[in-house]
This record gives sequence, structure tokens and C-alpha cells, in this order.
Amino acid sequence: MKYTGKYRKLADQFRSDGCDEALAERFIREEIERDGYEKKSGLTDLAAYREWQSWPEERRQLYLGNAFCSKCSVTSFAPGYTIRKDRFGLIVEGKCAVCGSRIARCCD
Ligand SMILES: [Zn+2]
Repeated sequence: MKYTGKYRKLADQFRSDGCDEALAERFIREEIERDGYEKKSGLTDLAAYREWQSWPEERRQLYLGNAFCSKCSVTSFAPGYTIRKDRFGLIVEGKCAVCGSRIARCCD
């Protein structure tokens, strides 16, 4: 198997450490998969965040100020919420501004 960039450096490292080829390949594959996964999840979050930012301020405030908490019923999000996207639309995840419980809100 041919590697490029940092994977090639890793491969050289494994070889000079006396690792056999099969073991080195397994480690590098895991590394490649992990990098691919992180890249993908990073892009997904960024896309969701961009979509969220493209909404008018009033619309965002409406969602942020109208979430449901199992303890407090209608509540708002505390600062530090996150945005992700799933097949129903954007999901805001964060904490209840009143009691700190984890809450989420689907925005469609
Ligand atoms: Zn609450």
C-alpha cells in the first residue's frame, strides 16, 4: 500500500521501529478512518451552523426562547448551545436557561 503525506511518515516510522508491514497498515488505516470521520463531522456542523446563521435574528430567537424542558416546561436555551443538522432540519442542543438540564429543539 502506498501512502502520502503524514501517513507515509507514519509508515516510515513503523518500519524503522521494526513493526511488520501488516501491523503498520492496520494502524495507518485506523488513522485514515479517524481523520476522515473528523473531517466529515466537522463539515456537517459547519454547514448546519451556516444555515442557522443565514436565518433572521427574530427567527433564531423564537426557537431559542421557546424550547421545552422536562422540569420547567417552556424555557429558553442558556448561552453555549450547539447546532447540528439531521433529516428533520436543524437541531439546537444545549442547556435549559433556568435549571441547566440538557434540552434540544428541532427547528424546521
Ligand atoms: Zn429547566
